[in-house]
Amino acid sequence: MSARIEADAGQPGRHAAGLFASAAMHRDSNGNALHAPVLVLNASYEPINVCAARRALVLVLKGVAMTEEENGHFLHAARIAMRVPSVIRLLEYRRIPHQSRALSRKNILLRDRNTCQYCATVLPSSELTLDHVIPRSRGGSSTWENLVACCHACNRRKGNQFPLEAGMKLMREPRAFNLHTSRHIMRLMGRSDDKWRKYLFY
Ligand SMILES: [Zn+2]
Repeated sequence: MSARIEADAGQPGRHAAGLFASAAMHRDSNGNALHAPVLVLNASYEPINVCAARRALVLVLKGVAMTEEENGHFLHAARIAMRVPSVIRLLEYRRIPHQSRALSRKNILLRDRNTCQYCATVLPSSELTLDHVIPRSRGGSSTWENLVACCHACNRRKGNQFPLEAGMKLMREPRAFNLHTSRHIMRLMGRSDDKWRKYLFY
């Protein structure tokens, strides 16, 4: 999962991309090291994003970010050995738009943490659907405030009714995805990583 909040720094440079094409992970590292999540901090140390280690290394190689914490793995490529970061920090401050997340199925499920908002069942994305709280047939729109993660059983039960008519209740009021929500997700992800803690738990 990537809690992305527009910390994108363009496409990987040609040099960096080439380096990865011929990169071989150290024997001691596990093959997933390049996919490990890396916490991205703004120049101000504010956590703003999570990306894969591979992308974090590209940002470091391009001089866009610097490594703040390492994850203990090495990347061996050409004659370079690079420590794989666990936390990186952008060298230039980026203004983070107040609300920059696109409305998408993926982001709605992320916001609702793959939990049916009516019966609280946690399911894989493939077993969840999106429910229009106010049904489309009755004027409901496709917005952050009117879309929630929903299991198929609840979706069938609700049909073209308002939650109240179906005797169903939302776990919580759906809201737009904002930095607060994102930080919450970053905290959930960082719970197991001691190196993330000092940047997230304040
Ligand atoms: Zn349900």
